[in-house]
Amino acid sequence: MSVDASHTGSRRLLARLRDVMAGGGSAHDKLEQVVTLIAAGLDAQVCSIYVMRAGEVLELFATEGLLRDAVHVTRLRVGEGLVGTIAAHARPLALSDARNHPSFAFRPETGEEIYRSFLGVPILRGGRVMGVLAVQNTGQRAYVDVEIETLETVAMVLAELVAGGELISREETRQIDGIGILPLRLDGLKLAAGIGIGQAVLHRPRIQIERLVSDDPDRELSRLRRAVDEMHGALDNMVESTEGEHRDILETYRMIAEDAGWLSRIEEAVATGLTAEAAVQKVQSDLRARMNQISEPYLRERVHDLDDLANRLQQYLTGGVRATAEMDHDHEFVVIARSMGPAELMDYDRNRMRGLVLEEGSPTAHVTILAKACGVPVIGRARDALDRIETGDPLIVDGDHGQVFVRPSEDVLTAFREAAEARRQHQVQLAALRDLPAVTRNGTRITLSMNAGLLADMSHFRDIGADGIGLYRTEVPFMARPSLPGVDDQANLYGRVLDLANGKPVAFRTLDIGGDKLLPFWDAGDEENPAMGWRAVRMSLDRPALLRQQVRALIRAAAARELRLMFPMVSEVAELDALRRLLDMELERAARLDWPRPDPLRVGVMLEVPALLFQLDDLLPRIDFLSVGSNDLIQFLYAADRGNARLAERYDVLSSAGLRFLRDLARRCDAAGVPVSVCGEMAARPVDAIALVGLGFRHLSVAPSAVAQIKETIRSMRLEQVSPFLDNLVAGTSSSLRNQIKAFAVDHDIAI
Ligand code: PEP
Ligand code: MG
Repeated sequence: MSVDASHTGSRRLLARLRDVMAGGGSAHDKLEQVVTLIAAGLDAQVCSIYVMRAGEVLELFATEGLLRDAVHVTRLRVGEGLVGTIAAHARPLALSDARNHPSFAFRPETGEEIYRSFLGVPILRGGRVMGVLAVQNTGQRAYVDVEIETLETVAMVLAELVAGGELISREETRQIDGIGILPLRLDGLKLAAGIGIGQAVLHRPRIQIERLVSDDPDRELSRLRRAVDEMHGALDNMVESTEGEHRDILETYRMIAEDAGWLSRIEEAVATGLTAEAAVQKVQSDLRARMNQISEPYLRERVHDLDDLANRLQQYLTGGVRATAEMDHDHEFVVIARSMGPAELMDYDRNRMRGLVLEEGSPTAHVTILAKACGVPVIGRARDALDRIETGDPLIVDGDHGQVFVRPSEDVLTAFREAAEARRQHQVQLAALRDLPAVTRNGTRITLSMNAGLLADMSHFRDIGADGIGLYRTEVPFMARPSLPGVDDQANLYGRVLDLANGKPVAFRTLDIGGDKLLPFWDAGDEENPAMGWRAVRMSLDRPALLRQQVRALIRAAAARELRLMFPMVSEVAELDALRRLLDMELERAARLDWPRPDPLRVGVMLEVPALLFQLDDLLPRIDFLSVGSNDLIQFLYAADRGNARLAERYDVLSSAGLRFLRDLARRCDAAGVPVSVCGEMAARPVDAIALVGLGFRHLSVAPSAVAQIKETIRSMRLEQVSPFLDNLVAGTSSSLRNQIKAFAVDHDIAI
């Protein structure tokens, strides 16, 4: 089918516009030529361009038809007059009798009193209003859809000119956020403390489109249709290869992809003379601008889906986006993402990464844990962060208060630089504790270890002042590799970990794959409920080769040194027995080969599945230590997905019930003489650590960045005060005792 003939005028106009854009002259000269062209092309007596300036002001930059003296003089606030109304709603406005519109504001310097009809469209870029483009006629003219469409297309091309930095400085453009232009503050969830200052990097960057205007709309239309077919085909395959509830979700997504309205809007934009990529971007930009005004959650989700689909379609058109790892960031930066897997985070240069802002995210998601381990502040649930932040925007991430400052003013920046410096000094004070033991004021020694998963964590081990490694997440290096490491590679790695630990104990947790820890090369199949699915030791028991290789590598690495093995996600004693048999086989094999036996060899289990609590009588005599994985434990105890942002603050383990659970566990382990530690994220929070130590836990293992703080907390506690206080709290039905414990800490000079 040939492209609709009614668009011929629009295409001719766009082609001329392209020539002007490509020609010489300043941006101002180009604007002058553009207004003349548009007025002629649309048969209008007036064409004017208003550009958004700092302070939410739209300034007349060029006009054909209005009085020249008004240029750079006429200014309208967002929401003021017809032009301001268009900017406020990010929608076109077509009026055959403009003077009757309630927002009409007469500006005598323009001489516009003789013009009766008015058509204006927002100049949008990435969903932000950069200005307004308007035409006017003396007569009472009813502008038709094709004309509105044409003006919108032209506005899209102009957006590039405005963003080019010549008309107004890039600084000023950058400050334009949505319809607002002031620095912006986004509130979110505190996921990892600290202050980070850097430039924004969007995790999935917007694709840069090289060609906006097409020479051959028919060809563009076929390119578009081919890309749409490819995308549909890929989605079909995805749906076909999926079962259960996920399939329903994908089906819905595919149905949205077939949304005739959406596709025809893109085709229309191609018909007006844009390239296929530019057309997708235009429709996406319109949708984003509208999205900011939709409050109904279902509709917003739908628009989000369309936004995702537009990105996907762009990839089919442009042949893919550059991988994150390939991007070069010269500056210190902050990553903005909807959500992210831990492996994706590792693609970024951690030396220059200053913060992570997630639209979703929760405290125990692996990406959070990993970022925390790197000392990177993290904010979660920052609504619309991707829409409101542009690549290159200066940002402050205030992980202590759950805030992100976008394009902050100099004053704010200075204040935060000072705060960061004060924090650094506090760190120096804390560092002074490095060689001191974690002992309470009444003399109870607490073993304070750190969690690790990367050699990089280990390289700081000596500086951190931890008593050992309470949790070494062995799957982390697996997640960053394209294939499974062999026994030699693993043995080398574990050997280095032990060397760096310098004689202090390391609890190697065997592979915890599955759930939220997926390996790029391991297809575990789709699961409806992966956190409770085929993961960790369940996988190891069904596919023992992987575990046996790992244990072999660990035995070899330990040589005659101490080896601590810890099994994750054990749900019943019989599983531990089966794991032990595999371990014994490897020990026998090692003996046959005359490898030295690790000495001592200690076997522990993570308590993450609540059912274990009811098997302690049989479990405890079989193990050398127990470690509470509170991240998973809490998720199973409260049936609350650890990765679900909506539930992140819903249940508090510092509730009467949660504390009772922990107290009983500590008591029973103590009675059985089995050391019990807590290695989940709660141990790294000072208030939680007070509760844990007060309830009887004598071993904690926390992220490296939290060791000093928790040591300070422990060293300022008096158990004879804390323990009775907690004993009194556990009875009852309180759903959170956090504030009470915090107040107690303040009253008793406990550092939190
Ligand atoms: C836990 O579940 O608390 C834990 C420490 O293990 P992970 O976070 O690696 O699942
Ligand atoms: Mg776990």
